Amino acid sequence: MYIGRFAPSPTGPLHVGSLVAAVASFLDARRHQGLWYVRMEDVDCLREVPGAADAILRALTVYGLQWDGSVLYQSQRLDAYAEALAQLQQRGLAYACGCSRREIAAQARQGAEGLIYPGWCRHGVKAGKLGRAIRVRTEDAPVHFRDRLQGEVVQCVSHEVGDFVLRRADGLFAYQLAVVVDDAYQGITHVVRGLDLLYNTPRQLYLQALLGYATPQYLHHPLVLGNDGRKLSKQHRAPALCLEQPVPQLCQALGFLGYRLPREAADMNPPTLLAWALTQADPLRSD
Ligand code: GLU
Repeated sequence: MYIGRFAPSPTGPLHVGSLVAAVASFLDARRHQGLWYVRMEDVDCLREVPGAADAILRALTVYGLQWDGSVLYQSQRLDAYAEALAQLQQRGLAYACGCSRREIAAQARQGAEGLIYPGWCRHGVKAGKLGRAIRVRTEDAPVHFRDRLQGEVVQCVSHEVGDFVLRRADGLFAYQLAVVVDDAYQGITHVVRGLDLLYNTPRQLYLQALLGYATPQYLHHPLVLGNDGRKLSKQHRAPALCLEQPVPQLCQALGFLGYRLPREAADMNPPTLLAWALTQADPLRSD
């Protein structure tokens, strides 16, 4: 049984870049006669924009991306994250850290995604400090997986990322923990998402192994870039989708994914266009 998902963060309305992620995961699920869930990743309430979650769901509906079951909200799942974290702490696999960002920045090595924490609090928080963040203890063994599109990926998490944060000093659970707990809870078998998250995946595999969860199959698709060559993102104010006229942007998303649209595409409605896409060979040819 295939179970896929689209997991937007409600930090703004959907734009063409996130539409590509939604369409890619939706079509992959439907090609496999699978379920397609939507999970609202609203665990970081500080970055949430009021109304964005509803706007995203409205846009998905207008674009013909009908999800299965009910939407899972991460803000309703805090007990599950706390339980997973407590389990890791009890087993000595996670520890409290009292180092400030400034202390870390002064001495730590820079990794591809931020500073690599040197593990100072691994054996206890320094006297006079409060351990407010919780980090996972990483190991030197490399993490391997085969991405359905990108091929073999290897990362030594301890060396390239370091002991990463599971609960932030402000008390919020980190994306890495929430995503792993929820992918397991929802029985996700296939994750299809943008290439910007490829570098996170080994951390997620590492946590899955510690928590005894199954590892889904991953596919990281190319990203839509803006004119400046950077990923389109809500933070960089990518224009929101046009809900009055969804077809041109849906065609754009399908075209980006490699579909060669017929001339009549412009006259179709979103569900027919998606149904047409499913009759075509998968341009990602990912299996
Ligand atoms: N919520 C994340 C985002 O919007 C995606 C998480 C995921 O697909 O694993 O970037």
